Order: sequence, then structure tokens, then C-alpha cells
Amino acid sequence: MTETTYQYIDGEWIEGESDDTISVRDPADPADPIASFPGASSAQAAAAVRAAGNASDAWAETPPGERDRALHDVADRIEDNHESLAETLTAEEGKPISSSRGEVARAAEIFRFFGGDARRTTGTTIPSDDPGTFTYTVREPLGVVTLLTPWNFPIATPSWKLATALATGNAVVLKPSSETPTIARRLVELLEAAGVPDGAVNLVVGAGSTVGDALTTDERVDGISFTGSTGTGQHIAEAAASRGIPIQAEMGGKNPQVVLPDADIDAAAADAVAGACGGTGQACTATSRLLVHEEIAEEVTAAVVDRTESLSVGPGAEDPDMGPAVSAEELESNLQYIEIAEDEGATLLTGGGKPGGVGSGYFVEPTVFADVEPGMRIAHEEVFGPVLSIIEVSDLDEAIDVANSVEYGLSASVFTSDMAAAREFTNRIEAGVVKVNGTTTGSQIQLPFGGMKASSTERQKEMGQRAYEFYTHEKVVYRSDP
Ligand code: NAP
Repeated sequence: MTETTYQYIDGEWIEGESDDTISVRDPADPADPIASFPGASSAQAAAAVRAAGNASDAWAETPPGERDRALHDVADRIEDNHESLAETLTAEEGKPISSSRGEVARAAEIFRFFGGDARRTTGTTIPSDDPGTFTYTVREPLGVVTLLTPWNFPIATPSWKLATALATGNAVVLKPSSETPTIARRLVELLEAAGVPDGAVNLVVGAGSTVGDALTTDERVDGISFTGSTGTGQHIAEAAASRGIPIQAEMGGKNPQVVLPDADIDAAAADAVAGACGGTGQACTATSRLLVHEEIAEEVTAAVVDRTESLSVGPGAEDPDMGPAVSAEELESNLQYIEIAEDEGATLLTGGGKPGGVGSGYFVEPTVFADVEPGMRIAHEEVFGPVLSIIEVSDLDEAIDVANSVEYGLSASVFTSDMAAAREFTNRIEAGVVKVNGTTTGSQIQLPFGGMKASSTERQKEMGQRAYEFYTHEKVVYRSDP
């Protein structure tokens, strides 16, 4: 296979046929593309959907144990290729190599855990009012599911969608972000090697604007699982709603961390900085707003600035605390938001530009603003970069009101030693994931994950014990004696 062959359709690796060029660059050293190839055409995307449609019945009828074994085999293969997958991930996404190693290890865990859904996807027996009738439910695969994924967790996100969709007997078409297609290609190679049959898994690498419609509006598509920006997600959700097919869309965030006067201030500052700057702030759950009680604002702010200034920034391969932004567009967007915040009157405490001495890469300094008011754009729009806004509040009520005042509702946290305050916060906060004395980022695969409000379509969540629900129909059976 050559470096330009990225499309995997009906068991064949082929070149894209569109006029779009997909250029993959190392964000730390972007001068020369590390891969450059034609993206898929709309006709190729339709062919991938057709291939999935042709393969779906046979895959659905494959015994669950066999599907489970194939997905466990993928996990083993990910582990066998752990270091080179981590290097691929860092080369095209830019994150520190230790983070890539962690993400690759997590992908293996995901295939192992959700592969088990093949055998765990169960219905229920329910007592019938009629003694001659046995009543129960069964779960059946949707059929063909399109999986659309972003670049920020480019092996973990495809993995949790692929593993659950395939475990439950669906055939899939994966379309990864155009920023990170190589790690997706390598993952699909491992699925092929593990014996997932031709057509049951397909890979389409192409611009969303070229292949998106074919992958979402084709009548053979029975469901869509999307992770990405709110704008794109809402557009796809509308298309899915018009056809009445299930859509799972996990989207943007503007996540608050509240710090109350009785909190462990060092722990709160450490988690705020880790949440804001880890992964260069490019996590949907990144800590974006630090809502600090006025009594401790000075102390918390000093600790946050201190920790932010101690972060090392550099190429992911050198394993710094923080790598570059993924692309020139993301860097530009980060810098624009920094300018907007200054124009709106926020006080820049540290960072605010490109760091020196790191060459032509897409680096941005970890940045902290104080004197941020809830009405400012920096306080309610997703930045998706290492920019933390400190907002002072006078009590828990105000903190919750400000936290809930944005359109998003993905993750939120509170730092306090008062469990009554913690309970009040967890009860009233509008967020799909809530932490007490923990950072807004990070999730465990055995727990459900997903947002509220504009962060999610709020259908069944991803991951957790019931991730299979999205990928299956529930059929109710009344079986009566003849
Ligand atoms: P994005 O621009 O919305 O893209 C996500 C995926 O959708 C990409 O594969 C993209 O392809 C594709 N796409 C774009 N237009 C499409 C269309 N018309 N039809 C079908 N697919 C289309 O998001 P991103 O910039 O990659 O990721 C960053 C965003 O993801 C942030 O907003 C972040 O908060 C969010 N995110 C959310 C979660 C969560 O679980 N809530 C997790 C991670 C990230 P192209 O790359 O070819 O455009």
C-alpha cells in the first residue's frame, strides 16, 4: 500500500478520486506535508455505504463470540504496535508522545471492553398479564452506521465508536478528520488484519464538505454517530431528523470549574491548569472558565499563573507539557480569541501569543485572563485552545448561575470540602459530566459520557455499560402458546 492509498471500501485499499487534496502536516514542523493524497469523492463515499449495506446482514448473523474475539484481536494488535501508533498520532496531531502512548493504550482497552458488548447486549424478560404469553425484548443492530470523528483524540474516538458499533453487529463507514487520517488508516488496517470481514468496516478519507452528504443522507444509512463541533453536529442532526434515523452527536463545550473558599487551593489550581492546557486545551471537556469565590480569588489566581508559567511548550516528540495547536486555522482562532478578550477588557495575566524559540510550528502560549465578565465572548464561546478565563463570583448560587449561563453543557467541576455545597452543585449544574474535587477533563470508559444542551443531541450516551443502546433497536416480543 502506498502513502496515498487511504480509502478502504469493500475490503480494497484504493486511492481517492476527488479533486480535493488532503495534506497531513506535523503541527510542530508544518513546512512539508508528511502525507498528501486525493480525498475520497462523493461517489466513493456512496460506494462505501453500499458495501456496508451488502455486508451488514452477514456481520449481524456472525455469532457474538466470533465478533467479540475479532475485536479482542484488534486490541492485541494495537498493543503489539503501541509505540509506532503513538508516534504516528503525535506526528499528525502534535500531542506530547506520553499522551499519545496513553491514548493508544486506551484504544486497546476500549476494543477489549466494548468488544464484550457483542455478548452483553441483552434484552429483558418482563412478566406478561396473559399466562399463555411469554414477553421479552431483544436488541438488534441498526444496520449501516456512519461514524464521523474529530482530530483531537484521533484513535480513541474512532475506537469507541467502531468497537461498540461492530460488537453489536452493525456494518460501518468511518470518516475521520482530514487532519488525522493516518492514525485512522492504521487502525482500520488492524481491523482488517483481525479478520473483520470485507464491507463490515469501511474507511472514507475526504473533506466533510465533499463526502458528508453521501455519508449522512444516503437512504441506506441507518444511524450516525458524530463527534465534533456544534455547528457541524447540528447540521448533521437536522439531516438525520428529516429521515427519522438515530443520531448521536457529541459536540463542543465551555466547561466551568468552580472553586469555593473551603477548597484545597493547590489541588484546585493544579487541576484548573491541567484541564485548561492539557492537550493544548483541545479537549471538548477542557476547563475554560475558572469561577472563583472572591475571598480566595487572589490566592487561586497567583497559584494558577505560577503553574501555567512553569509549563514547557514544544514538539510533541520531545514530550513537553504542551504541544502545538493542531493546525494553522486552530492557532489563528486561538490568537483571535486572545485579541477579542483583550479588546473586551479582560486582563491578560500570562501568555497571549506565540512562544519564542519553537520554530514555525503552530505553537501558542498557555494563557490566563482575569477580570472576565460572563457577558464577554471569551466567557461563553468555545476557544478550543489553552486559554483560561478567571471569573470572580460572590457565592455558590452566583457560580452556578454563571456556569449555566452558556449554551453548552458538557462537563463541570466544583472544588470544595463542603459536601452539602457539592450536592447543591451536582443537583443544579447543567452538564452531562460533573466532578467534585476533580478536573473537568478525563473520563473512564466504563462510565457513560456525553453532554447536555448544545453539547449533545442527548440521545443515548457514548461508552459506559449501555453504549450499545444507541447502536441497536429494541424489539418487544409477545410469544403466545398456539
Ligand atoms: P468538526 O469540524 O465538526 O469535524 C468533525 C468531523 O466531521 C470531521 O471528520 C469532519 O471532516 C466532519 N465533517 C465536517 N463537515 C461535515 C459534513 N458536512 N458532513 C459530515 N461530516 C462532516 O470538528 P473538529 O474541528 O474536527 O473537532 C473539534 C470540535 O469537536 C470541538 O468543537 C470539540 O469540542 C468537539 N469535540 C467534542 C467531543 C465530545 O465528545 N463532546 C469530543 C471531541 C471533540 P473534515 O475534517 O474533513 O472537515
